[in-house]
Amino acid sequence: DPVLQLTGVAKTYNKGLPNAVQVLQAIDLTVQPGEIVALVAPSGAGKSTLLHIAGLLDTPDAGSVRICGAEMVGESDRKRTGVRRSDVGFVYQFHHLLPEFTALENVMLPQLANGVPRAEAQTRAADLLCRVGVEARSEHRPAALSGGEQQRVALCRALANEPRLLLADEPTGNLDPETSAQVFATLMGLVRDTGLAAVIATHNMELAARMDRVLRMDKGVLTPA
Ligand code: ADP
Ligand code: ADP
Repeated sequence: DPVLQLTGVAKTYNKGLPNAVQVLQAIDLTVQPGEIVALVAPSGAGKSTLLHIAGLLDTPDAGSVRICGAEMVGESDRKRTGVRRSDVGFVYQFHHLLPEFTALENVMLPQLANGVPRAEAQTRAADLLCRVGVEARSEHRPAALSGGEQQRVALCRALANEPRLLLADEPTGNLDPETSAQVFATLMGLVRDTGLAAVIATHNMELAARMDRVLRMDKGVLTPA
């Protein structure tokens, strides 16, 4: 099965009201295991809406959302939250790490929430931090880290529960070009190593060109670039 399969996905905000805005018209998107898809879209094109629907944080008005073959539209919130927690990892433009916890603890927390024993969560968190090159920063809080280090830790947190799907919304958009390229290379390496599927929204065409497939999003429709 594809990791993600969206068929005919449509979304209108404020439906039926004078200020209704149709953000997604008929989105078809299939992402196979190991595939990295770039989503290139102008601001306001609906990419956040699309990523939230794909990640089960929002529901479409019409269409089908399948994760690893299972239909999620019409499922209970409880079921969707369970699938999101085990199968989906998110990375954003800003790290959203918890400020009062260390880097290591930030990567342990999603695992503890999923019932992983503490020792195992710690081992896995340390391993992930090592793989992205920030092991020396494990005991530091987010505020003590550079922007690139913060995004590396956020990437580790997204992968902590070994998801099958990574959804990233401008994951290097807040970094200077050099740091952005480095963090992006780390992200691509880690995604390739783990064989997970990824949808990565970016404005950066140079980075997009290094992914397996580039899709443009405009006026609620996806087109191959
Ligand atoms: P992008 O991530 O591509 O910038 P979004 O998915 O955030 O786009 O938003 C697409 C459009 O939908 C924008 O015009 C935005 O103003 C509108 N929008 C987003 N969320 C809401 C909401 N909760 N209610 C109403 N309009 C929204
Ligand atoms: P609960 O409300 O049952 O604690 P949530 O739905 O808040 O569960 O969170 C489940 C998972 O989804 C968490 O791993 C969290 O990181 C992620 N998540 C929840 N809300 C958002 C959001 N707005 N953006 C990104 N990830 C989110």
